[in-house]
Amino acid sequence: MDFSSWPVLIAIVLLAVVGMEGFAWWAHKYIMHDWGWGWHRSHHEPHEGMFEKNDLYAVVFAGFSILLFVVGTGFGIPVVTALATGITIYGFLYFVVHDGLVHQRWPFRYIPHRGYAKRLVQAHRLHHAVRGKEHGVSFGFLYAPPIEDLQRRLKDSGVVAREQAEIRRSAKAVAPTSDASPTL
Ligand SMILES: [Zn+2]
Ligand SMILES: [Zn+2]
Repeated sequence: MDFSSWPVLIAIVLLAVVGMEGFAWWAHKYIMHDWGWGWHRSHHEPHEGMFEKNDLYAVVFAGFSILLFVVGTGFGIPVVTALATGITIYGFLYFVVHDGLVHQRWPFRYIPHRGYAKRLVQAHRLHHAVRGKEHGVSFGFLYAPPIEDLQRRLKDSGVVAREQAEIRRSAKAVAPTSDASPTL
């Protein structure tokens, strides 16, 4: 097989895009919700301002694909350039779906109301229904499991109800004279 022929290179680009979704799922579940929680936590908590610590992950991934571009073009290795292209395309799709459609970090408002795009947005919102690092669902970004499955898993684990009870408890601890505070 000629690894510098166009059909092979295009196939590598597509494989890299698909492979990156698998890698992103894995990294989100086993790195960001584990020992990498220190950066990712900022994305699961309310915050002010444009940026969050979690954005550093995007910087790391961008740095990695730039490095691959430099190696691929600098040393004339088309396979590496094709990999870098696939990773960059994935980064762009991730930005559109995650930062754009779900979190509305762009200047225009568009929320998909039907089809697969709607399912993607709903699935990631269910990922955010859990604030802590454990018992989360839907760690992918371009593939979303059926919404009913995710809802069932969340209900079965009882994590959302537990977290809400926790929030209510800590709110009471901060305001012990809760009789005087207005009821919501
Ligand atoms: Zn997460
Ligand atoms: Zn998110």
